[in-house]
Amino acid sequence: MDVLNKNIDRSWIDNCNNPFIISGPCSAESKMQIFNTANGLLKNEGKSYVHAFRAGIWKPRTKPGNFEGIGIEGLKWLREVKKNNGIYIATEVANKEHVKLCINHDVDILWIGARSTTNPFLVQEIADSLVGQNDKIVLVKNPIHPDIELWIGAVERLYKKGIRKIGLIHRGFYTYKSLKYRNQPNWKLVLEIKNIIPEIPILCDPSHICGNRDRLFDISNKSIRYFNCDGLMIESHYDPSKAWSDSNQQITPDILLDFLKSFYSNSNKDYITKNQRDLESFRLLIDELDENIISILSERMNISRKLGIIKKNLDINILQPNRWNIIMKQSINLGKDLGIPEQLLKNIFKLLHQESIKIQNKTMK
Ligand code: PEP
Ligand code: MN
Repeated sequence: MDVLNKNIDRSWIDNCNNPFIISGPCSAESKMQIFNTANGLLKNEGKSYVHAFRAGIWKPRTKPGNFEGIGIEGLKWLREVKKNNGIYIATEVANKEHVKLCINHDVDILWIGARSTTNPFLVQEIADSLVGQNDKIVLVKNPIHPDIELWIGAVERLYKKGIRKIGLIHRGFYTYKSLKYRNQPNWKLVLEIKNIIPEIPILCDPSHICGNRDRLFDISNKSIRYFNCDGLMIESHYDPSKAWSDSNQQITPDILLDFLKSFYSNSNKDYITKNQRDLESFRLLIDELDENIISILSERMNISRKLGIIKKNLDINILQPNRWNIIMKQSINLGKDLGIPEQLLKNIFKLLHQESIKIQNKTMK
């Protein structure tokens, strides 16, 4: 990792003093949509805020039957945006064909999507097809699930093939039933990966973390101020309500530019020390854990309700002392290895058990 750290080429990101901003629609849809969005972002002083224009050309969709990307035609529109505005263009690649077409169309920034990062075969295929393309910037989105080794593994595969302008994109992690986010930030992993590869640039993608527009700028601010992210990838569309994919999370170019302007004008005033930053970032880690605890509590209560009905059908008592003893014992044992005091677990599980009995009594009636 030391060699990799030493040889990562940060020039593309360090050359711009401010956060590096990639923006543009989730998917390329039509020439009119690409040009309207790009013009909105890059008009007047927009070019000093936005450094790269993005659009998905091939879209990985969870279910078949949705729009799966416009394909090669869209690459021509992107190339025109680059020619007209002199900025980087960026898109997602998921196999060697995509890479080849991107090279042919002068795409500057290629990113590996969250679903592809989970698959070492695909990452290797992409890395192999990039041999000799040392000027390309290649960004690796975090895998869908919080596996930091897989994320680093993808970086290593690219590095071994000679790519040096490598960066990361933090787009959040899938969790079953997240209360607030489309993909939970799991900020802890950002801290961990920065610890392992401190030199690698990291951009935050608040669009795919939030899944809607409500917290986009809150997450953007936090990623840069408290987690030292080097930039953002934010989805924008000239008319988000008409977007063919991720309509709920896209914003208009004007809204993005307003945010970036106020961010820049405040960033000098808002200087914070390392201790202040650590305080805020650790508070966010606690908030996330609390969110998980609440989500798990609600799951537990739902199951208690179902148990009440089953016990009524079986005509057995709600209180089953054997079962209760087993729960208490196994929890204390699990906690012991993790350094959690026995009394704390006893108190917590007593409360949980009392609540569970109350719920079951209610459903039995
Ligand atoms: C995207 O950037 O539009 C995208 C599909 O992202 P992700 O791979 O993070 O889901
Ligand atoms: Mn998207």
